[in-house]
Amino acid sequence: MSSLRQTATPYLLFFTLSAAGLLAQNTTPTPPPVLDVHVHAMDESFPGMSATCPNQSKFLASDPATKESSNGWSTEECTPKLTPAAKGEYIKDVVAEMERLNVTAVVFGDPASVQKWRDAAPNRVIPGTSFDNGMAPGARVPLDELRKDFTPAPNGGGFKVMGEIGLQYEGLSPSDPSVDQYFALAEELDIPVAIHMGTGGSGRANIAMPKFRGSMGNPLLLEELLARHPKLRVQVMHAGYPMIDNMLTLLQANSHVYVDVAGLIWSYPLKEVNRYIQRLVEAGFEDRVMFGTDQFQWPKLMSYSISLIQNADYLTPDQKRDILYNNAARFLRLPPSPTN
Ligand SMILES: [Zn+2]
Repeated sequence: MSSLRQTATPYLLFFTLSAAGLLAQNTTPTPPPVLDVHVHAMDESFPGMSATCPNQSKFLASDPATKESSNGWSTEECTPKLTPAAKGEYIKDVVAEMERLNVTAVVFGDPASVQKWRDAAPNRVIPGTSFDNGMAPGARVPLDELRKDFTPAPNGGGFKVMGEIGLQYEGLSPSDPSVDQYFALAEELDIPVAIHMGTGGSGRANIAMPKFRGSMGNPLLLEELLARHPKLRVQVMHAGYPMIDNMLTLLQANSHVYVDVAGLIWSYPLKEVNRYIQRLVEAGFEDRVMFGTDQFQWPKLMSYSISLIQNADYLTPDQKRDILYNNAARFLRLPPSPTN
């Protein structure tokens, strides 16, 4: 009797664990993969917006005679609020979300900041860095240093995407000759470039960043750059919002230009966001729209932004999968998803 119990117990334990495993698989299957092409390598929660409303319904006027808000965001009551992580928990919380949602992300930042993310999620981070050297406008990373960053490991840093290139915040066009050497390097090394075009947030020029120029987000400013570097692969970050006509003109003229919907997807009125994405897709560019978040503060932003694509009634299931994964996989030259 006792020997039977001794043999039976492990068997029962094994059976119970297997059944529990099957049950867990049945209730929480791994979701299909998502590529987020626009994440920032923040560590601590970014200062400024402690709890922000996604898809605010309006951007309010401010008066130069009174003290203006430092970030230009309204504080309307809303549900949901995007709540920041607890101090020191940000990377851990976002990586947990990436695991839960099966997200792989292009993470942009200076090499040391991106390394923290590579260490935290080695299989889920595609590293990106750019030629901005800190926040001071015009400060650049030396060309040789950048070449090393983009040289495959172990001889170099193994970075895969050049971005986020934020020339618009300096009031510069992406075709400005002063930065052409960096785009020439990207073309030579066959590294895709990701350029901020369009969005800036409310009151960007008069409240937070006096050099910011809305006009420098015009997607057609990329034409000279593309003419000089015909093999360059370009990701127009934020899809040139709100300049839809010029964005469509550029996509029509240059068939290797892609857009991402990062930032745009959660920081403008919801109807407007959907109208913009719908216009891109219905104009025939469904294979060039890539999902992105512009993740920099709130761990739940990823699931919130994915749900906007998943709930879009103007997209077919195939178009949703293309936006959430396939288009970026093609742009980044990753293998296609086995579940697509
Ligand atoms: Zn941006």
